[in-house]
Amino acid sequence: MPEKPPFSKVVAGLPPTVPFVPPEELERKTGTRLQLRLGANESTFGMSPHAREAMAQAAAESNFYGDAHCYPLRQELARLYGVDGDHLVFASGIDELLGLIARAFLNPGDGVTTSLGGYPTFNYHVEGFGGIIHEVPYQKGKNDLEGLSETAVKTGSRIVYLANPDNPTGTWYSAEELADFRASLPADCLLVLDEAYIEFAPKSADLPIDPSDRGIIRTRTFSKVYGMAGARIGYALTHPEIARAFDKIRNHFGVNHIAQAGALAALQDSDFVQKVVASVEQGRREYEELAQSLGFTAYPSATNFVAIDVGSEERAVSLREALWERGVFVRTPGAPPLNRCLRVTVGTPEERTQFAAILRETVQALSKS
Ligand SMILES: *Cc1c(COP(=O)(O)O)cnc(C)c1O
Repeated sequence: MPEKPPFSKVVAGLPPTVPFVPPEELERKTGTRLQLRLGANESTFGMSPHAREAMAQAAAESNFYGDAHCYPLRQELARLYGVDGDHLVFASGIDELLGLIARAFLNPGDGVTTSLGGYPTFNYHVEGFGGIIHEVPYQKGKNDLEGLSETAVKTGSRIVYLANPDNPTGTWYSAEELADFRASLPADCLLVLDEAYIEFAPKSADLPIDPSDRGIIRTRTFSKVYGMAGARIGYALTHPEIARAFDKIRNHFGVNHIAQAGALAALQDSDFVQKVVASVEQGRREYEELAQSLGFTAYPSATNFVAIDVGSEERAVSLREALWERGVFVRTPGAPPLNRCLRVTVGTPEERTQFAAILRETVQALSKS
């Protein structure tokens, strides 16, 4: 008999890592206040005033559980996408959906295929359900679609994960390229297309919806362009059969009613979204010029961040640390070759100006030391 209640085999075998160190932890550790929070691709443009108002009203009704079916929001999104409401699944962000996906489709020991150094939460959940991760390095700065598909076939993977536009590179593929990729996967392999940044991307990157496709889940969120990361709400667009399977395992009251009210109001304020997208587009150009003027190169981006290749991992890490010391939160991707990059969120025009000045000063200070 063990002396203590043992953990499950899967949990006992997990590494002690968490995918994200929050900036609040940095502040506590260093005792400094961050002045520019540009490391997590949150929207510093805030949210639509209509969303804010709807949420304030909903906050006053927090004695009641939220609608477990997110009905009004479901109806509105179904109308926007031209599908029936049963194609949608709501959760507290894409991060929760990725966990539901791993749980619904993996038995311990099953394989998945993803990019080496891609968005970490998918891997985190896969490991949590005992899955095996097969990683395909980026090629020429982009997800290697051919490599992903070959690896999925070779390993008999149950799931392939692709973010489009991608995090951490910001790069993207067109709908035609995605359709070819989709077609190249085995019929029994699920494609998870993570579209957290789709609203920032050109229309040509938006794969047309095929409501009959039982092999794809597309995930979208209110965390990025809508500026509601702290409210925790996202959704999946998928086949109703898959949506019904999630109903068997999801946290039915996990999407709180404040978030539901905010999301509905945010969807209806397309002017606000357009303004954010336009300013972010301008900001990406500014970051590209800034990178060039410092002798660095920026990855092309269809997101609200830019990955700036500063030439070496060593320089990326020392710049990141020096920026943190100056109260600027940015992140560096973990795996080569992306670990030569600083990933910087596109903030408001004022924040961009501040960031440019601090980055220039930091680069100069480091080149002297
Ligand atoms: C930010 C991000 C998410 C997280 O979305 P939530 O809805 O806030 O959980 C998921 N995927 C990618 C690629 C992201 O960059």
